[in-house]
Amino acid sequence: MAALKACSALVTGANRGLGLEMVKQLLEARCSKIFAACRDPDGTNSEALRELAKNHPGVVTLVKLDVADPCSIKASAEKVGSLLDKNGLNLIINNAAVLPSKSMLTATVEDMVHTFNTNVIGPLFVIREYLPYLRAAAKASGKPGMSWDKAAVINISSDAGSMSIMPSLSEPFPFFPYSISKAGLNMLTVYTAKDLKADEILCISIHPGWVKTDMGGDKAPIDTRQSVEGMLRVIGSLTEKQHGGFMDYTGETLPW
Ligand code: NAP
Repeated sequence: MAALKACSALVTGANRGLGLEMVKQLLEARCSKIFAACRDPDGTNSEALRELAKNHPGVVTLVKLDVADPCSIKASAEKVGSLLDKNGLNLIINNAAVLPSKSMLTATVEDMVHTFNTNVIGPLFVIREYLPYLRAAAKASGKPGMSWDKAAVINISSDAGSMSIMPSLSEPFPFFPYSISKAGLNMLTVYTAKDLKADEILCISIHPGWVKTDMGGDKAPIDTRQSVEGMLRVIGSLTEKQHGGFMDYTGETLPW
């Protein structure tokens, strides 16, 4: 990926798994301002992220953000806004998500509501609250067309949210609320792409592959480094042609 000295980015769920690796690789790509958001920046789950922020002062800023709480999203946007200049925010990685292990027959109302709040409503309100900064970035860039270092929203989705792929899986996938929420996130991508087209703000859904994390488990075939390298390669190559699309970390287009 090209060096991104002028790029500013927000990553949600940045304290572990793919979010933490995303922060590390954005740093390697020399992104100049990285807002690493997590729900408990002072907690034991965020030690690695605190270390990164300590070693990269002025580049990595920890931001408290619980995506399941609209007030927390609003407060985080106010904080980030106060640290941005007229060049705004170039990139949002909507990464935070939950995966309750429930089937169609066992999922409770709470499972459904919590999963939807985190995986769909959270990304929606992140986009909405941060939209003025994305618009500022798109305007300040002066570049024609769409690209991730101009202004972009990347929704980390899953092939489990594909209505075409799910029925053909050979193994059972007992994560009913999650699948439905990722299908909802994909529809959010389609709406966002349509609504933000005039602002030249790019939006896609991306499947990171099956990855070794707390969520993906040990049997996953790839690690966070491979997944994020792939996603950043794909994200770095995006133009308006992929706007509103659904891809995986190798660059393959996925069916909805
Ligand atoms: P993970 O290791 O379980 O990490 C999930 C992250 O989301 C954690 O940082 C967690 O923070 C955060 N999070 C959960 N609820 C939150 C909330 N309410 N507010 C803010 N942060 C919250 O998962 P991962 O594997 O890195 O997954 C990252 C993304 O990739 C997700 O969107 C997931 O659906 C997608 N994905 C992963 C795989 C895979 O195989 N791993 C496959 C397909 C898609 P806490 O530490 O506070 O809990």
